[in-house]
Amino acid sequence: MVLTALLLAGCASAPAEVATAPAPPTAPMSAEAAKPPVALQYLYGSAEAAIAVRATNARIADYALRRIRERPKDSVVLAPSASMSAPLFEPCGNKPFAAVFDADETLIWNLGPMRYFAEQGSSYDPKIWDQWEQTGAGKAVAMPGTADMLARLRAAGITVIANTNRSAANAKGSEDTLRAAGLGEFKHGETLFLMGDDATGSSKDGRRATIASKYCVILMAGDQLGDFSQQFNVKDLPAAQRMALATSAAANALWDQGWFLFPNPVYGPWEKLGWDDVFPAASNWTPE
Ligand SMILES: [Mg+2]
Repeated sequence: MVLTALLLAGCASAPAEVATAPAPPTAPMSAEAAKPPVALQYLYGSAEAAIAVRATNARIADYALRRIRERPKDSVVLAPSASMSAPLFEPCGNKPFAAVFDADETLIWNLGPMRYFAEQGSSYDPKIWDQWEQTGAGKAVAMPGTADMLARLRAAGITVIANTNRSAANAKGSEDTLRAAGLGEFKHGETLFLMGDDATGSSKDGRRATIASKYCVILMAGDQLGDFSQQFNVKDLPAAQRMALATSAAANALWDQGWFLFPNPVYGPWEKLGWDDVFPAASNWTPE
């Protein structure tokens, strides 16, 4: 199986957001290779994924409209010193409301390069991705239900902000890409925050703090845990600890209640997981 391996949302190793580089297929094209890899079939082609994404977008819009009526005391952005075990959030004060989204595989599906990488049997290539950021407008699509969800937020007076690890050098390309996908206007430095905006590389924490200093962030959405806090991306964090952190009581209180996760089986930091991470020894089974 050849999958692209790019971690666009907050891998610890910036700027090359590459987890692994699976070897390209050496065998001649088989009947199976005439089809996309299963993860791409599922995410970009299946009704099952479309329904899951649409449902998440509906939950986001419903949550947002309910939440602004409650006038929350705090943003859902963790304060700089706060850990998941002792969560503390940026205060809202009288700041205007905002919703903060990752871009790739959260607002848009990157169909152009995903097909290209898969057909080439190649892994993620940062030089090709850089071109994609510059020229991809019109070839990335809004995810199912995303345009409607954003329209509901904006109609309620909520500022829609993207915080993505696309490059600040390609700001215009990303603005154009989001607009061409039917998702409206995102303006670099105001409603579009990019890698390179500050000196902290692929960590989105600094950009989140900048946004939360101006806005009451009522929700965040992403496809990877780095879209919520960099503490999930600590280098060499063991898989079991990452799981425990992400499913702790404090984290569980946020999922679907301010933090919204979209499915992405195509790429992510979980690509590091080994057999023993995925399958506990107690579950081992073999047929007679
Ligand atoms: Mg993403």
